[in-house]
Amino acid sequence: MNDKNFNSILLLAILATLIAVLGQQYFPKKRLLAWPNANFISYFYSSNQADGSPAAFWVSQEQNLWRCVYPEDDKSEYFACSFNFLFGTLEKAGTADLSGFTHINLKLNYTGSANKLRLYIRNFNPAYSKPDDSNSTKFHAVTLHTKDLNQEIQLNMDEFFVADWWLGQYDIPRNLSRPEFTQTVSVGIDFLEGLQPGIHDMQIEKIEFVGEWISTERWYLVILAAWMLGIFIYAITKLIQLRQQTEHDVKVINELSSNNEQLQMETDKFRRLSTVDPLTQAYNRFGIDQIVATLMIFNKEKDEHRNAPDFALMIIDIDHFKRINDRRGHDTGDRVLQTISAIISKGIRTQDFLGRWGGEEFIVIMPSTRKEFAIALAEKIRLMIYDTVFEPTNPLSVTASFGVSDKLDDEDFATTFKRADKALYEAKTQGRNCCVIAEDQLLP
Ligand code: GH3
Ligand code: MG
Ligand code: MG
Repeated sequence: MNDKNFNSILLLAILATLIAVLGQQYFPKKRLLAWPNANFISYFYSSNQADGSPAAFWVSQEQNLWRCVYPEDDKSEYFACSFNFLFGTLEKAGTADLSGFTHINLKLNYTGSANKLRLYIRNFNPAYSKPDDSNSTKFHAVTLHTKDLNQEIQLNMDEFFVADWWLGQYDIPRNLSRPEFTQTVSVGIDFLEGLQPGIHDMQIEKIEFVGEWISTERWYLVILAAWMLGIFIYAITKLIQLRQQTEHDVKVINELSSNNEQLQMETDKFRRLSTVDPLTQAYNRFGIDQIVATLMIFNKEKDEHRNAPDFALMIIDIDHFKRINDRRGHDTGDRVLQTISAIISKGIRTQDFLGRWGGEEFIVIMPSTRKEFAIALAEKIRLMIYDTVFEPTNPLSVTASFGVSDKLDDEDFATTFKRADKALYEAKTQGRNCCVIAEDQLLP
């Protein structure tokens, strides 16, 4: 997901949240038309009139019109006249969960002299209700003024209170005394005390419970949960992306470093090729130049009071090599060159460097070495060559001449070399197969 996509999604999510918050009031409502409702059973609970007939009765059940006749000469202690309906049947009590409803749409048409009447809802709870005592269901009531009736009114569920007489009669603990509508068994309407004698007609047009399908708190929780889920999914995707990116990066870095290693190997190979003579495996002139340059730098940084010279030089020239070529052929000449190179390599120390200076001429650089040691080493190598049987199938003896010098203070390599070369020339003139140490001064 790129930044642009992310921003669009974020904007959409904010918009959706706004719509969800503001649009909640327009959501369809949860409705329960409790009356008229053919599923619910109605009954009257009333005292009797003087002639023994019930005080409450239907005038017209089709029109939901009932009447309460309050006798002129009522002597009863408690006069009852109420309409009720049950959420279950008369035989078997059923219950309705009205806890999710927030208000009631009520349309009652009343004619008569009463000022007030009472709407009540009864709730069953095994904690205080007994099945054989219908009065033990919790009694919630709201008092209605008859002058407000004859039109649709809206009652909030929180207008209902638990009646004091009921709390007193059943000795209900405090924690159970608040309104409760989770298992309502019945709804009823009756008149309050002080009812005037005469006829009281009431038409129950509508008792409708209305509520939200999802409460505001729950809806906000859903929105919050959706956000949390979104953020969680986003974080997980980011994490996965990051891991993939890291894996990819590691792969690229590994590839690069392996490429680098290969490149390094190639470079080393080419460096070797450029500094080593392919025939004898000794350093070539370029290689020797580099070694000498490095030694010069290294020695410059060394302690002033050292007593060894920077290096000693040994120049080796094969005697009458042209003759070998002429008599045995160029290939034999090459093999002799290889053998001589191998003998010198064996003769010198590990810190010394062997180079092929020209055709049949070799050079040995001996760091921090005096010429006295160098000449001894030269003598040793001379004898090794002398003692070697070249070309065993057709034996050939080969000798070489040596010129040795060491670097004087303030002398450059070229001068040291010239003095060694002069000593070599001297060895040649002395009859070859010998070693000559250079003079400390370059004589003309
Ligand atoms: P001297 O004792 O005075 O050194 O005599 P020399 O014959 O060794 O010296 P010269 O310089 O006259 O001859 C060197 C010969 O080495 C000439 C050349 O043909 C031969 N040579 C140079 N490089 C190579 C090589 O790589 N292989 C072979 N086989 N011969 C080479
Ligand atoms: Mg030569
Ligand atoms: Mg020679």
